[in-house]
Amino acid sequence: MRHLVVRYGTTTAVDAVSLDIDPGAVVGLLGPSGCGKSTLLRAVTGLDQPSAGSVCWNGADLADVPVHRRGFGLMFQDGQLFPHRDVGGNVEFGLRMAGVDRAGRGRRVAELLELVGLAGFARRAVTTLSGGEQQRVALARALAPRPRLLLLDEPLSALDRALRERLAADLSSILARTRTTALYVTHDHDEAFTVADQVAVMADGRILQTDPPDRLWRHPVDRRVAVFLGYRWFVPATALGLHGAPAACTAALRPESLVVDPAGPLVARVVDQRFARGASTLRVDVGGLGEVEARAPGADLFPVGGCVQLRVDPAAVALLDR
Ligand code: ADP
Repeated sequence: MRHLVVRYGTTTAVDAVSLDIDPGAVVGLLGPSGCGKSTLLRAVTGLDQPSAGSVCWNGADLADVPVHRRGFGLMFQDGQLFPHRDVGGNVEFGLRMAGVDRAGRGRRVAELLELVGLAGFARRAVTTLSGGEQQRVALARALAPRPRLLLLDEPLSALDRALRERLAADLSSILARTRTTALYVTHDHDEAFTVADQVAVMADGRILQTDPPDRLWRHPVDRRVAVFLGYRWFVPATALGLHGAPAACTAALRPESLVVDPAGPLVARVVDQRFARGASTLRVDVGGLGEVEARAPGADLFPVGGCVQLRVDPAAVALLDR
Protein backbone atom coordinates (compact mmCIF):
# COMPACT_ATOMS: atom_id res chain seq x y z
CA MET A 1 0.00 0.00 0.00
CA ARG A 2 1.42 3.36 -0.99
CA HIS A 3 -0.02 6.62 0.38
CA LEU A 4 -3.41 4.98 0.29
CA VAL A 5 -6.37 7.30 0.96
CA VAL A 6 -10.03 6.27 1.21
CA ARG A 7 -12.70 8.92 1.73
CA TYR A 8 -16.42 8.61 2.37
CA GLY A 9 -17.84 12.04 1.62
CA THR A 10 -16.02 14.34 4.03
CA THR A 11 -14.70 11.49 6.24
CA THR A 12 -11.15 10.38 5.53
CA ALA A 13 -11.30 6.79 6.77
CA VAL A 14 -7.80 5.85 5.56
CA ASP A 15 -5.32 8.68 5.55
CA ALA A 16 -2.14 8.20 3.48
CA VAL A 17 -1.29 4.70 4.64
CA SER A 18 1.86 2.96 3.39
CA LEU A 19 2.37 -0.63 4.46
CA ASP A 20 4.38 -3.57 3.13
CA ILE A 21 3.65 -7.24 3.68
CA ASP A 22 6.57 -9.58 3.05
CA PRO A 23 5.95 -12.95 1.39
CA GLY A 24 4.83 -15.47 4.01
CA ALA A 25 4.44 -12.81 6.72
CA VAL A 26 1.35 -12.16 8.79
CA VAL A 27 0.81 -8.45 9.43
CA GLY A 28 -1.63 -7.57 12.20
CA LEU A 29 -3.54 -4.32 11.76
CA LEU A 30 -4.41 -3.28 15.30
CA GLY A 31 -6.51 -0.31 16.31
CA PRO A 32 -9.69 0.78 18.07
CA SER A 33 -13.08 0.45 16.47
CA GLY A 34 -13.69 3.08 13.79
CA CYS A 35 -10.01 3.81 13.08
CA GLY A 36 -10.26 2.63 9.45
CA LYS A 37 -9.03 -0.99 9.58
CA SER A 38 -11.90 -2.55 7.63
CA THR A 39 -11.85 0.25 5.10
CA LEU A 40 -8.14 -0.35 4.48
CA LEU A 41 -8.78 -4.07 4.08
CA ARG A 42 -11.65 -3.45 1.65
CA ALA A 43 -9.42 -1.21 -0.44
CA VAL A 44 -6.82 -3.99 -0.61
CA THR A 45 -9.45 -6.51 -1.75
CA GLY A 46 -10.67 -4.10 -4.43
CA LEU A 47 -14.18 -3.91 -2.91
CA ASP A 48 -13.61 -0.19 -2.29
CA GLN A 49 -11.78 2.18 -4.61
CA PRO A 50 -8.98 4.28 -3.12
CA SER A 51 -9.45 8.05 -3.42
CA ALA A 52 -5.68 8.36 -3.85
CA GLY A 53 -2.56 6.22 -3.60
CA SER A 54 -2.19 2.64 -4.70
CA VAL A 55 -2.30 -1.03 -3.79
CA CYS A 56 0.43 -3.02 -5.54
CA TRP A 57 1.43 -6.65 -5.77
CA ASN A 58 5.09 -7.28 -6.49
CA GLY A 59 5.33 -3.69 -7.70
CA ALA A 60 2.37 -3.94 -10.12
CA ASP A 61 -0.56 -1.59 -9.45
CA LEU A 62 -3.82 -3.51 -8.87
CA ALA A 63 -6.12 -0.58 -9.71
CA ASP A 64 -7.42 -2.29 -12.86
CA VAL A 65 -7.52 -5.80 -11.41
CA PRO A 66 -11.07 -6.72 -10.30
CA VAL A 67 -11.73 -8.34 -6.91
CA HIS A 68 -12.04 -11.91 -8.23
CA ARG A 69 -8.80 -11.68 -10.23
CA ARG A 70 -6.62 -10.56 -7.33
CA GLY A 71 -6.17 -14.08 -5.98
CA PHE A 72 -6.90 -12.90 -2.44
CA GLY A 73 -8.82 -14.90 0.17
CA LEU A 74 -11.23 -13.34 2.65
CA MET A 75 -12.40 -14.26 6.11
CA PHE A 76 -14.81 -12.23 8.21
CA GLN A 77 -16.07 -12.10 11.79
CA ASP A 78 -19.20 -13.93 10.77
CA GLY A 79 -17.90 -16.76 8.56
CA GLN A 80 -20.71 -16.13 6.06
CA LEU A 81 -20.90 -19.82 5.24
CA PHE A 82 -23.47 -21.01 2.70
CA PRO A 83 -26.18 -22.48 4.98
CA HIS A 84 -27.60 -24.79 2.28
CA ARG A 85 -24.22 -26.46 1.61
CA ASP A 86 -22.54 -28.92 3.97
CA VAL A 87 -19.04 -28.38 5.35
CA GLY A 88 -17.35 -30.00 2.35
CA GLY A 89 -19.53 -28.00 -0.05
CA ASN A 90 -18.45 -24.79 1.62
CA VAL A 91 -14.75 -25.65 1.64
CA GLU A 92 -14.71 -26.71 -2.02
CA PHE A 93 -16.59 -23.63 -3.25
CA GLY A 94 -13.53 -21.70 -4.45
CA LEU A 95 -12.07 -24.83 -6.04
CA ARG A 96 -15.27 -25.36 -8.04
CA MET A 97 -15.08 -21.74 -9.25
CA ALA A 98 -11.47 -22.41 -10.29
CA GLY A 99 -12.53 -25.49 -12.28
CA VAL A 100 -10.75 -28.09 -10.14
CA ASP A 101 -12.09 -31.60 -10.88
CA ARG A 102 -14.11 -33.64 -8.40
CA ALA A 103 -11.25 -35.89 -7.26
CA GLY A 104 -8.94 -32.91 -6.82
CA ARG A 105 -11.59 -31.07 -4.80
CA GLY A 106 -12.17 -34.11 -2.58
CA ARG A 107 -8.46 -34.43 -1.80
CA ARG A 108 -8.05 -30.74 -1.04
CA VAL A 109 -11.17 -30.61 1.17
CA ALA A 110 -9.92 -33.58 3.24
CA GLU A 111 -6.48 -31.98 3.54
CA LEU A 112 -7.92 -28.66 4.72
CA LEU A 113 -10.39 -30.15 7.18
CA GLU A 114 -7.48 -32.07 8.68
CA LEU A 115 -5.46 -28.83 8.84
CA VAL A 116 -8.17 -26.91 10.72
CA GLY A 117 -8.92 -29.79 13.09
CA LEU A 118 -12.23 -30.87 11.53
CA ALA A 119 -11.26 -34.16 9.85
CA GLY A 120 -14.38 -36.19 9.10
CA PHE A 121 -16.74 -33.18 9.16
CA ALA A 122 -17.23 -32.94 5.38
CA ARG A 123 -20.86 -34.08 5.33
CA ARG A 124 -22.01 -32.15 8.42
CA ALA A 125 -24.62 -29.42 7.91
CA VAL A 126 -22.94 -26.09 8.75
CA THR A 127 -25.98 -25.05 10.78
CA THR A 128 -25.14 -27.80 13.32
CA LEU A 129 -21.65 -26.43 14.02
CA SER A 130 -20.55 -24.32 17.00
CA GLY A 131 -19.30 -20.77 16.38
CA GLY A 132 -15.69 -21.87 16.67
CA GLU A 133 -16.19 -24.77 14.25
CA GLN A 134 -17.89 -22.46 11.76
CA GLN A 135 -14.86 -20.16 11.80
CA ARG A 136 -12.59 -23.16 11.22
CA VAL A 137 -14.68 -24.02 8.15
CA ALA A 138 -14.51 -20.40 6.99
CA LEU A 139 -10.71 -20.54 7.29
CA ALA A 140 -10.54 -23.83 5.37
CA ARG A 141 -12.76 -22.36 2.65
CA ALA A 142 -10.60 -19.23 2.37
CA LEU A 143 -7.37 -21.24 2.19
CA ALA A 144 -8.63 -23.92 -0.24
CA PRO A 145 -7.77 -22.08 -3.50
CA ARG A 146 -4.28 -21.22 -2.09
CA PRO A 147 -4.79 -17.43 -2.07
CA ARG A 148 -1.62 -15.40 -2.56
CA LEU A 149 -2.84 -13.11 0.22
CA LEU A 150 -5.36 -13.92 2.96
CA LEU A 151 -7.31 -10.97 4.41
CA LEU A 152 -8.90 -11.58 7.79
CA ASP A 153 -11.30 -9.02 9.31
CA GLU A 154 -11.83 -9.61 13.06
CA PRO A 155 -12.20 -13.35 12.39
CA LEU A 156 -12.51 -14.29 16.09
CA SER A 157 -14.41 -11.31 17.51
CA ALA A 158 -17.75 -13.08 17.76
CA LEU A 159 -16.32 -15.88 19.95
CA ASP A 160 -15.97 -15.96 23.74
CA ARG A 161 -12.59 -15.26 25.32
CA ALA A 162 -11.35 -18.81 26.02
CA LEU A 163 -12.28 -20.01 22.55
CA ARG A 164 -10.76 -16.92 20.98
CA GLU A 165 -7.41 -17.56 22.68
CA ARG A 166 -7.32 -21.17 21.53
CA LEU A 167 -8.37 -20.37 17.98
CA ALA A 168 -5.86 -17.51 17.75
CA ALA A 169 -3.07 -19.93 18.62
CA ASP A 170 -4.38 -22.49 16.10
CA LEU A 171 -4.77 -19.84 13.41
CA SER A 172 -1.23 -18.68 13.99
CA SER A 173 0.21 -22.17 13.53
CA ILE A 174 -2.00 -22.89 10.50
CA LEU A 175 -0.90 -19.67 8.77
CA ALA A 176 2.75 -20.46 9.56
CA ARG A 177 2.52 -24.10 8.40
CA THR A 178 0.86 -23.12 5.11
CA ARG A 179 3.27 -20.15 4.72
CA THR A 180 0.25 -17.97 4.06
CA THR A 181 0.85 -14.26 3.52
CA ALA A 182 -1.85 -12.47 5.49
CA LEU A 183 -3.26 -9.17 6.68
CA TYR A 184 -5.07 -9.68 9.97
CA VAL A 185 -7.40 -6.94 11.21
CA THR A 186 -8.24 -6.85 14.92
CA HIS A 187 -8.93 -4.49 17.83
CA ASP A 188 -7.62 -7.10 20.29
CA HIS A 189 -3.95 -6.77 21.34
CA ASP A 190 -3.60 -10.35 22.53
CA GLU A 191 -4.90 -11.66 19.24
CA ALA A 192 -2.62 -9.40 17.20
CA PHE A 193 0.43 -10.40 19.23
CA THR A 194 -0.45 -14.11 19.02
CA VAL A 195 -0.99 -14.20 15.27
CA ALA A 196 1.17 -11.52 13.67
CA ASP A 197 4.88 -11.31 12.83
CA GLN A 198 4.52 -7.56 12.42
CA VAL A 199 1.89 -5.40 14.08
CA ALA A 200 0.77 -2.09 12.56
CA VAL A 201 -0.93 0.15 15.12
CA MET A 202 -3.62 2.32 13.54
CA ALA A 203 -5.52 5.34 14.84
CA ASP A 204 -7.67 7.91 13.04
CA GLY A 205 -6.93 6.46 9.62
CA ARG A 206 -3.15 6.50 10.04
CA ILE A 207 -0.56 3.91 10.92
CA LEU A 208 1.38 5.09 13.95
CA GLN A 209 3.96 2.29 14.15
CA THR A 210 4.75 -1.02 12.45
CA ASP A 211 7.07 -3.41 14.26
CA PRO A 212 7.44 -7.00 15.43
CA PRO A 213 5.40 -7.54 18.65
CA ASP A 214 8.37 -7.58 21.04
CA ARG A 215 9.84 -4.40 19.60
CA LEU A 216 6.47 -2.62 19.64
CA TRP A 217 5.90 -3.67 23.21
CA ARG A 218 9.36 -2.57 24.41
CA HIS A 219 9.69 0.59 22.30
CA PRO A 220 6.39 2.24 21.43
CA VAL A 221 7.18 5.29 19.27
CA ASP A 222 5.12 7.65 21.41
CA ARG A 223 2.70 7.92 24.30
CA ARG A 224 -0.32 7.40 22.14
CA VAL A 225 0.89 3.97 21.01
CA ALA A 226 1.99 3.14 24.57
CA VAL A 227 -1.41 4.05 26.03
CA PHE A 228 -3.13 2.00 23.36
CA LEU A 229 -0.98 -1.00 24.34
CA GLY A 230 -1.96 -0.62 28.01
CA TYR A 231 0.83 1.49 29.52
CA ARG A 232 -0.65 3.89 32.05
CA TRP A 233 2.07 5.88 33.81
CA PHE A 234 4.97 7.81 32.35
CA VAL A 235 7.96 8.63 34.52
CA PRO A 236 11.59 9.66 33.95
CA ALA A 237 13.60 6.43 33.41
CA THR A 238 16.28 7.68 35.81
CA ALA A 239 13.74 7.67 38.66
CA LEU A 240 13.48 3.86 38.33
CA GLY A 241 17.24 3.32 38.37
CA LEU A 242 17.01 1.16 35.24
CA HIS A 243 20.38 -0.10 34.07
CA GLY A 244 21.33 1.08 30.61
CA ALA A 245 18.36 3.40 30.13
CA PRO A 246 19.47 6.59 28.38
CA ALA A 247 19.03 9.58 30.67
CA ALA A 248 16.60 11.33 28.34
CA CYS A 249 14.16 8.40 28.22
CA THR A 250 10.67 8.22 29.63
CA ALA A 251 9.70 4.88 31.14
CA ALA A 252 6.15 3.73 30.51
CA LEU A 253 4.63 1.59 33.25
CA ARG A 254 1.71 -0.79 33.43
CA PRO A 255 0.41 -2.57 36.56
CA GLU A 256 2.89 -5.45 36.02
CA SER A 257 5.94 -3.15 35.90
CA LEU A 258 6.49 -2.76 39.66
CA VAL A 259 6.57 -5.75 42.00
CA VAL A 260 6.51 -5.81 45.81
CA ASP A 261 9.90 -7.11 46.97
CA PRO A 262 11.41 -6.53 50.46
CA ALA A 263 14.81 -6.24 48.78
CA GLY A 264 13.59 -3.78 46.11
CA PRO A 265 15.21 -0.35 45.79
CA LEU A 266 12.05 1.79 45.60
CA VAL A 267 10.11 2.81 48.71
CA ALA A 268 6.38 3.48 48.39
CA ARG A 269 3.40 4.26 50.61
CA VAL A 270 0.34 2.04 50.24
CA VAL A 271 -2.82 3.89 49.16
CA ASP A 272 -5.13 0.97 48.41
CA GLN A 273 -5.15 -2.79 47.79
CA ARG A 274 -7.39 -5.09 45.76
CA PHE A 275 -7.33 -8.80 44.95
CA ALA A 276 -7.81 -10.64 41.68
CA ARG A 277 -6.70 -14.05 40.39
CA GLY A 278 -4.55 -15.07 43.35
CA ALA A 279 -2.48 -11.89 43.46
CA SER A 280 -3.11 -8.38 44.64
CA THR A 281 -2.67 -5.00 43.08
CA LEU A 282 -1.54 -2.14 45.26
CA ARG A 283 -2.07 1.48 44.55
CA VAL A 284 1.10 3.09 45.84
CA ASP A 285 2.65 6.51 46.14
CA VAL A 286 6.28 6.30 45.09
CA GLY A 287 8.48 9.22 46.11
CA GLY A 288 9.20 11.30 43.03
CA LEU A 289 6.85 9.32 40.73
CA GLY A 290 3.43 9.96 42.21
CA GLU A 291 0.66 7.34 42.40
CA VAL A 292 1.11 4.18 40.33
CA GLU A 293 0.16 0.51 40.69
CA ALA A 294 2.28 -2.45 41.75
CA ARG A 295 1.72 -6.21 41.89
CA ALA A 296 2.05 -8.23 45.09
CA PRO A 297 2.15 -12.01 44.60
CA GLY A 298 0.15 -14.08 47.10
CA ALA A 299 -2.46 -12.93 49.59
CA ASP A 300 -0.41 -10.76 51.97
CA LEU A 301 -2.26 -7.78 53.40
CA PHE A 302 -0.59 -4.39 53.23
CA PRO A 303 -1.97 -1.77 55.62
CA VAL A 304 -3.02 1.46 53.97
CA GLY A 305 -0.57 4.20 54.88
CA GLY A 306 2.25 1.69 55.51
CA CYS A 307 5.46 1.44 53.49
CA VAL A 308 6.44 -1.27 50.96
CA GLN A 309 9.54 -1.83 48.87
CA LEU A 310 9.31 -2.40 45.15
CA ARG A 311 11.52 -3.64 42.37
CA VAL A 312 11.12 -2.93 38.68
CA ASP A 313 10.42 -5.76 36.24
CA PRO A 314 12.45 -4.47 33.27
CA ALA A 315 10.60 -6.81 30.87
CA ALA A 316 7.34 -5.01 31.70
CA VAL A 317 8.64 -1.47 31.17
CA ALA A 318 8.75 0.34 27.83
CA LEU A 319 11.23 3.09 27.08
CA LEU A 320 10.12 6.11 25.07
CA ASP A 321 12.37 8.76 23.64
CA ARG A 322 11.33 12.05 25.17
P1 ADP B 1 -12.72 -0.09 11.81
O1 ADP B 1 -12.69 -1.24 10.89
O2 ADP B 1 -11.36 0.26 12.35
O3 ADP B 1 -13.72 -0.26 12.92
P2 ADP B 1 -13.94 1.34 9.60
O4 ADP B 1 -12.97 1.17 8.49
O5 ADP B 1 -15.14 0.45 9.61
O6 ADP B 1 -13.17 1.22 11.00
O7 ADP B 1 -14.46 2.85 9.63
C1 ADP B 1 -13.58 3.96 9.56
C2 ADP B 1 -14.39 5.24 9.45
O8 ADP B 1 -15.04 5.31 8.20
C3 ADP B 1 -15.47 5.40 10.50
O9 ADP B 1 -15.54 6.75 10.86
C4 ADP B 1 -16.71 4.96 9.77
O10 ADP B 1 -17.86 5.58 10.31
C5 ADP B 1 -16.44 5.43 8.35
N1 ADP B 1 -17.10 4.58 7.35
C6 ADP B 1 -16.86 3.27 7.13
N2 ADP B 1 -17.60 2.78 6.12
C7 ADP B 1 -18.35 3.84 5.67
C8 ADP B 1 -19.31 3.99 4.61
N3 ADP B 1 -19.66 2.98 3.81
N4 ADP B 1 -19.85 5.23 4.45
C9 ADP B 1 -19.49 6.26 5.24
N5 ADP B 1 -18.58 6.18 6.23
C10 ADP B 1 -18.02 4.98 6.45
